[in-house]
Formats: sequence, C-alpha cells, structure tokens
Amino acid sequence: MVDSSNPVHSRIGEEIEAPCGRCRMDRIHRIVAQDPDGTVKKIICGMCNSYRSYRQPKAQSETTPKLTKQRSSSSRSATSSVEDFGLPSRSYNMRENYSVGEVMAHSTFGVGKVLSIKDMNKVEVRFSDGVKILLQNK
Ligand SMILES: [Zn+2]
Repeated sequence: MVDSSNPVHSRIGEEIEAPCGRCRMDRIHRIVAQDPDGTVKKIICGMCNSYRSYRQPKAQSETTPKLTKQRSSSSRSATSSVEDFGLPSRSYNMRENYSVGEVMAHSTFGVGKVLSIKDMNKVEVRFSDGVKILLQNK
C-alpha cells in the first residue's frame, strides 16, 4: 500500500551542502529535522558533527526590486537599505580579499557592503538583515 495522501516526503537523513560555521567552509550536512511543510530546519555537519539551523537561500526573483516591473503601488515596498548599496561588484568568496565600501553579493545574506576590515582574514559586512563577519584571504 502506497500512502499518497501526504505530498511532503521526509528528507531526514538526506545530504545537503551548506556552509559550516565550525569548519568554516561548505560541507556535506545531513538533515536531522524538518517542518511538516518540508522546510529543512536542522542539519548536522558530516565532518565535525556540529548541529546548526538550516537557512534556505532566498529566492532572488523576489528580493531584487530594481528588476521588477513598476507598479502604481510601489510605495508599499520599503527597501531603501538595499538600494543604497548599489550593484554588487562580485560574489562573495572567502578566498578573495575585500576593501571598505565594496559591495558584494552573498549567496545566503544577499547584497552587502563592506563596513570595515577586522583583520587580515575577516571583514565586517552590512547586509539588509544585519552586520555579519565574513572570512577573507582563506
Ligand atoms: Zn563542520
């Protein structure tokens, strides 16, 4: 008997690639918890076995106001913090190095602007949902 009443299949135990905060690089993680709607909630790093919450990458088509068609009700969208970043010059890569004022595109956080250089291997970057410390020169 096949149960076809529930369209959400369990992904627990599946492998998924995600950045590991402890390994400080992309690692294969195993899914250990998910919501009833199928959203992955918790994953565990296959290398260092540390648990973390999984954040779904944002759908770019819904977060780029400049590319959407202009509508008469455009006053509803308050995205000024994103707009004054300008266009990103490149995508974030921990192996490269960045300078203050540079605008980058991050796969998880979106578009961000470099606020300061913390030290040779860390930069402080402001994204629309807050300031993050990113690695560089790794
Ligand atoms: Zn790890």
